[in-house]
Amino acid sequence: MSDPLAHACSLLHSVFGFAAFRPGQEEIVRAVLAGENVLAVMPTGSGKSLCYQLPAIARPGLTVVVSPLIALMRDQVRMLLAAGIAAGSLNSSNEPSENSRVLRLLRDRELRLLYVAPERLARPDTLEMLAESHVALMAIDEAHCVSQWGHDFRPEYLTLGSLARQIGGRLQTLALTATADAPTRRDIVEKLFAAPPRIFVRSFDRPNLRLAFKAKERSTQQVVSFVRAHEGESGIVYCASRRKVEELAATLAASGHRARPYHAGLDNPVRKANQDAFQQEDGLVMTATVAFGMGIDKPDVRFVCHADLPSNVEAYYQEIGRAGRDGLPADTLTLYSLGDMQLRRQQIEQSDSSDERKRIERQRLNALLALAEAPRCRRQTLLAYFGEKSQPCGNCDLCREGVELFDGTIEAQKAMSAILRTGERFGVEHLIAILVGDRTENVGKFNHDRLPTFGVGKDRKPSEWRSIFRQLSATGLIEQDLAEHGRWWVTDQGRRVLKGLERIELRKVALGTAKASKARSKAEVSTALESDADAALLKALKSLRTKLAVAQNVPAYVVFSDRTLVELATHRPTSLRAMREIHGVGDAKLERYGAAFLELVQNHAAAAAASA
Ligand code: ADP
Ligand code: ZN
Repeated sequence: MSDPLAHACSLLHSVFGFAAFRPGQEEIVRAVLAGENVLAVMPTGSGKSLCYQLPAIARPGLTVVVSPLIALMRDQVRMLLAAGIAAGSLNSSNEPSENSRVLRLLRDRELRLLYVAPERLARPDTLEMLAESHVALMAIDEAHCVSQWGHDFRPEYLTLGSLARQIGGRLQTLALTATADAPTRRDIVEKLFAAPPRIFVRSFDRPNLRLAFKAKERSTQQVVSFVRAHEGESGIVYCASRRKVEELAATLAASGHRARPYHAGLDNPVRKANQDAFQQEDGLVMTATVAFGMGIDKPDVRFVCHADLPSNVEAYYQEIGRAGRDGLPADTLTLYSLGDMQLRRQQIEQSDSSDERKRIERQRLNALLALAEAPRCRRQTLLAYFGEKSQPCGNCDLCREGVELFDGTIEAQKAMSAILRTGERFGVEHLIAILVGDRTENVGKFNHDRLPTFGVGKDRKPSEWRSIFRQLSATGLIEQDLAEHGRWWVTDQGRRVLKGLERIELRKVALGTAKASKARSKAEVSTALESDADAALLKALKSLRTKLAVAQNVPAYVVFSDRTLVELATHRPTSLRAMREIHGVGDAKLERYGAAFLELVQNHAAAAAASA
């Protein structure tokens, strides 16, 4: 074919079964096909892998994909094989038979994509073999691992530029990452490319993810009811500690959910079994620390709940980004408290990072706190952090439930005066006791019931004052000194508000929990379905998928994605030809599974007609 992009488009349809490029993919594929070196910055779930997979099959030569994660490689290879593409990985955990299959394909020049870990690539025998294999492109996944700024720094990544040169003089390179930081990007360009590459930065918006934050009240209960609203769906609950991971898994199991724990302290086999179960089965809840991270490539995760505040805004976005990679609606909820904020601050201060590094970490944490206490659309606030302007999204708790602001200057003044009149020496609970006029032991001991501030805030509940302290902290009016028992002090900006030179708006504290919105969000995932009959068909399609997946020992979504099943249930194709138009149905899958699914759809239609 004369136009390489047109050729690639037809493969997009016939091999992958996708109707069109996702935003951002086309430009990158075009640049790769034109032989350019490219850095692609795209958010998780936006479809980065296709940017090298499609060129890999659209033109001659081998594509080497460098990835740090063996589980992820294995998954991608499985998906590619299911689509009829000759792909393989070389790694130490392969069966010998798998390694010899890959080597044979490589020798016969039939292999299109080879996945390797950087350590493996660096081995002289691998380099020698690849130097003779007509490598056309080196795709470097998770390219931010080359940067010491990132939290995933891997020293082996530093050698990749020189390894590429050893394989083929000026080997074309495509680096991919979902990390948006400017310093990280600079590092990638410097360390992986000999000359500045073309850079594509895709919008960080993930409109299908619903965003919500809530202050902790009875936090275990909050988690349980969020999970209950997503009955039967796969999801992740992130916790700050291993102990909590175990406890929540037990609590969820006790309330009838299929839940499993994941953290670095579990024995390897248990951890692996739990991860495999999550990957393969439908409707499992994983309670996990952030150790459950980069290796997850499951497209149909329907919710992510943070039972504790994440460590910073980048981590937050990466973690919720594991939901809804298939583009269907997915729900997220982040719970947080003042204690969480304090813990995260402490972790930064107590780490042995350089001052510069700590400064960046503080900024990232502050951005998350500002998001938690945001007065308007969360997505706007979040995207603004990534340098993007946007409109109110309509898909976050603040857009949906509205936020009422009030002039909080007086409240701020009361809180700050409590801080100053006690000599900036006390933590939040003591200050609140003073404000609401509670004669606690400590209040008595320090004679703080004699202060003019004592009881000036008794029109509000302690929980409301906690929210006010969080908001004042998030907006920088007050700060906490963690070296000294979390004592609060008033910043210059705070003093201006105290003197009445500036005013401040605060959010009305929403204490009622919004049950209605949870029920809605569950319903929306199946909005594509028009009737109960469709829902019954979808259920039948899912169990057929499970049966086939189990028989072949692959995860369910390798057979067909959720979206494919939803489309099958809605459009009910009457022939294989019609089925070919459904999302995710390429030639190989049509051949393998088409007949079985078509039969099910037709039987269902016949049964529905008979009973009508
Ligand atoms: P990333 O690496 O950017 O996080 P992936 O490459 O894993 O994302 O892709 C996420 C999901 O999107 C996968 O399930 C993939 O099959 C799907 N996908 C990729 N490109 C398209 C497309 N053009 N149309 C529909 N689905 C796509
Ligand atoms: Zn919004």
